[in-house]
Amino acid sequence: MESFNRAKARLVASAPDRPGEQCFAEPASFQPIVNRLRCEGRGDCVEVCPESVFEVRRMEDADFDALPFFARLHSRAHGRKTAYTPNADACAACGLCVVACPEDALTLVRIGPSPAAR
Ligand code: SF4
Ligand code: SF4
Repeated sequence: MESFNRAKARLVASAPDRPGEQCFAEPASFQPIVNRLRCEGRGDCVEVCPESVFEVRRMEDADFDALPFFARLHSRAHGRKTAYTPNADACAACGLCVVACPEDALTLVRIGPSPAAR
């Protein structure tokens, strides 16, 4: 079971293409979206997220059934493991999960108003 890995989080923090707001976003203004066509449940997101947003577990039946045929085969080969975001409200938009994901399966989306719009 993966858990927070400070050294790994520090390593990916220097990625030039890191999105988000460097941890200065207000809570619940951003949220990571998992692309289940790409996620292989490797858990790098769990290791680098300082807010414990992610957990990796067996894909729920509804999500699995929604995958195309070959993606279901692919998912089975990885034990149907995928990332969920039970603590998404705590996301601080540091962007570390996006740059750490080896499968390019994460997108950080704004769900609240931008500071300029307030
Ligand atoms: S979202 Fe990316 S880093 Fe997280 S479990 Fe899936 S493949 Fe791994
Ligand atoms: S962007 Fe959000 S979900 Fe991703 S590592 Fe940072 S706090 Fe965690």
